Amino acid sequence: MRHLTHDPYEDIREGIRALCREFPDDYHRKVDEDRAYPEAFVKALTDAGWMSALIPEEYGGSGLGLTEASVIMEEINRAGGNSGACHGQMYNMNTLIRHGSEQQRREYLPRIAAGELRLQSMGVTEPTTGTDTTKIKTVAVRKGDRYVINGQKVWISRVQHSDLMILLARTTPLADVKKKSEGLSLFLVDIADAMKSGMSVRPIPNMVNHETNELFFDNVEIPSENLIGEEGMGFKYILTGLNAERALIAAECIGDGYWFTDRVTSYVNEREVFGRPIGQNQGVQFPIAEAFIEVEAANLMRYEACALYDQGEPCGTEANMAKYLAAKASWEAANACIQFHGGYGFASEYDIERKFRETRLYQVAPISTNLILSYVAEHVLGMPRSF
Ligand SMILES: Cc1cc2nc3c(=O)[nH]c(=O)nc-3n(C[C@H](O)[C@H](O)[C@H](O)COP(=O)(O)OP(=O)(O)OC[C@H]3O[C@@H](n4cnc5c(N)ncnc54)[C@H](O)[C@@H]3O)c2cc1C
Repeated sequence: MRHLTHDPYEDIREGIRALCREFPDDYHRKVDEDRAYPEAFVKALTDAGWMSALIPEEYGGSGLGLTEASVIMEEINRAGGNSGACHGQMYNMNTLIRHGSEQQRREYLPRIAAGELRLQSMGVTEPTTGTDTTKIKTVAVRKGDRYVINGQKVWISRVQHSDLMILLARTTPLADVKKKSEGLSLFLVDIADAMKSGMSVRPIPNMVNHETNELFFDNVEIPSENLIGEEGMGFKYILTGLNAERALIAAECIGDGYWFTDRVTSYVNEREVFGRPIGQNQGVQFPIAEAFIEVEAANLMRYEACALYDQGEPCGTEANMAKYLAAKASWEAANACIQFHGGYGFASEYDIERKFRETRLYQVAPISTNLILSYVAEHVLGMPRSF
């Protein structure tokens, strides 16, 4: 399939493709069937240094940008895997690097780079407030040299396969702040310590093989030095993670989109019904061509979002739009792929139904399409605020 004539990321792509060849379709299929974590795959990515791509060289990483990280994620999905098992480390990293203290960077980054620690979890969503993030009810109250956390989170992923979690909690009651985005704070939580001090984890079985959980905080104590940046500024800091997450997930959807269009193109060229390849019918060609065009277009917005992010420029609009376009494109591609495989699209051994489930998630998480449309309507186009 055609691609950029000069792709500056070809080395990264080749490296990831080589690693992914060691983990073919049947590996990911088995992990999905067993509802297991792809431990060997994530370990191989870590050992090869890919999971510390964003860590500056002085702390033991390779000092790459979000653009390169997005290429890594894209290639995993394009090779038939699911970056959802490990993308947390990519989208959380800059929150710690950009807003953490030098002491925190020195303490954690070299150990993450060495593969001794994983920073795979981010705790934002809550059951009663959903997307209305500034209304979260989890509170952190300062008591001497500690913060005491009480509350509940939902859909918090990879907690069982991470050592560290970035947690958003309210430190000043909503009633006492001028703007609702004020008074929220960000903490670096040592998951094992928190479990000893009152945090409990309830796994949520779900449609995708995605390890995600409800978390309950019952007087969980966190050392005050684990506060990230200034108290009360957490909402601003978490956007660093959320924008990175949207751009990375756009790249993952693009990887999925190419996987679906590649698979279905090969299939319709081979499969003969009524004495000719089904791909000879324009009714078959057009949905595949349309999905491919949309994946390519989404790809441009993804690079735009990543470039702005890497320059430290505001990128909320582009990251949201990239995620919207890419999730829509991969879903169109998934539908075309399953449709033109006929009955075989539903057989697990073709991997399409697995990838179909995996890519469907991104219409809802990490932010739903409706909320992106509302962001663009209000903040980009200047229409009246609706909520
Ligand atoms: C598998 C999985 C993994 C996840 N991992 C994490 C994680 O690691 N960390 C984390 O913090 N969160 C995580 N999430 C949570 C995810 O970010 C949320 O599910 C998502 O943001 C939507 O929030 P919600 O589920 O509360 O839906 P709600 O906010 O309840 O919204 C439900 C629906 O209503 C629509 N809606 C709501 N308000 C409006 C409005 N004003 N106008 C139009 N439509 C509206 C939305 O578009 C949505 O489709 C995960 C979710 C899933 C499913």
